[in-house]
Amino acid sequence: PETITVQELGNRMAERGGNLIKALMKMGVMATINQVIDADTAELVVEEFGHKAKRVSDADVEIGLVSGPDTESEMTGRPPVVTVMGHVDHGKTSLLDAMRESDVVSGEAGGITQHIGAYQVKLASGARITFIDTPGHAAFTAMRARGAEVTDIVVLVVAANDGIMPQTIEAIRHAQAAKVPIVVAINKIDLPEADPSRVRTELLQHDIVVEEMGGDVQTVEVSAKKRLNLDKLEEAILLQAEILDLKANPDRVAEGAVVEAKMERGRGSVATVLIQRGTLRVGETFVCGKEWGRVRALVNERGERLEEAGPASPVEVLGFNGTPEAGDDFIVVEDEAKAREVSGYRQRKDRETQFVKSARGSMEQMFERI
Ligand code: GDP
Ligand code: MG
Repeated sequence: PETITVQELGNRMAERGGNLIKALMKMGVMATINQVIDADTAELVVEEFGHKAKRVSDADVEIGLVSGPDTESEMTGRPPVVTVMGHVDHGKTSLLDAMRESDVVSGEAGGITQHIGAYQVKLASGARITFIDTPGHAAFTAMRARGAEVTDIVVLVVAANDGIMPQTIEAIRHAQAAKVPIVVAINKIDLPEADPSRVRTELLQHDIVVEEMGGDVQTVEVSAKKRLNLDKLEEAILLQAEILDLKANPDRVAEGAVVEAKMERGRGSVATVLIQRGTLRVGETFVCGKEWGRVRALVNERGERLEEAGPASPVEVLGFNGTPEAGDDFIVVEDEAKAREVSGYRQRKDRETQFVKSARGSMEQMFERI
């Protein structure tokens, strides 16, 4: 079956074609740069370079711009990345705002003022938690649809006076599909009609077995409005994080995902990137989705300029040549030539896909008329 050229495969892995030809030679396959190789061979080459290969069909292999695994000794603990989900008006935004205020750095440094799509709080204990600041499952699914799995823990907000509602169920399904553990925040316990035990019972019908019922899902009764038990919720998140044993290697080129991106007057294209592995530094060249750039500045949620950003840090990146999309992958590459090559490949690929889609669309229209 017709599949992929050596050149294309190299572009997808951000490896030079010449290196692929050498690897193929070692495997006993003599190939030129424009030669087509089959999916089996492609898969072997991909693994040879320590990348992850995913078969999308008999004839094609999809490669994320993901480089090889880190060894256990290189890994160090990292903060958890949390997404808040739940039914409308159950208090997602209020809870995120309330947690933002528990940041101890805010006192001195003027607080988290910028909305950059994500922020990190440092608790009095010194522990850190990163929150994705775009509540709701729309952002979560949009990112997942683009292959970005940034969330470690979902905080499911359920209003104690309202109970499980349609979007609560949707949020549960999304978290379960992504295999992301849930911590339940039973909110609005300050209201006289609050009934937390009803919430726990209702959760059971959706395969959420809370600790009080012999399961392993933690629940915390909170009030975002009255700032009750926010410390307990943070403890529950940190306990869940400990169970997950979250680690990353900070000493490697940075990889991450876009949380939010926009075009800003005077600043150009800016994106909030959540660093997932490695450390990103000013001056480095990167590929991000179909775009590429060179880091001109890194800015945190306090509006401060940084020299570098490590694992689980959300950071605003300036220096893009175009605006990426939420969920796009972000990876540092060795030089501008490689960045242009990969970005060019992805743009071409995208145009082809668009073309095929529109061609298919007009064909279907044609047949409808017949
Ligand atoms: P979201 O739609 O889930 O983001 O919910 P919001 O944070 O916008 O909150 C919806 C409404 O519930 C607002 O009027 C909040 O003031 C109110 N609310 C949020 N948390 C609490 C709480 O703990 N207690 C009470 N009584 N009201 C709350
Ligand atoms: Mg809201």
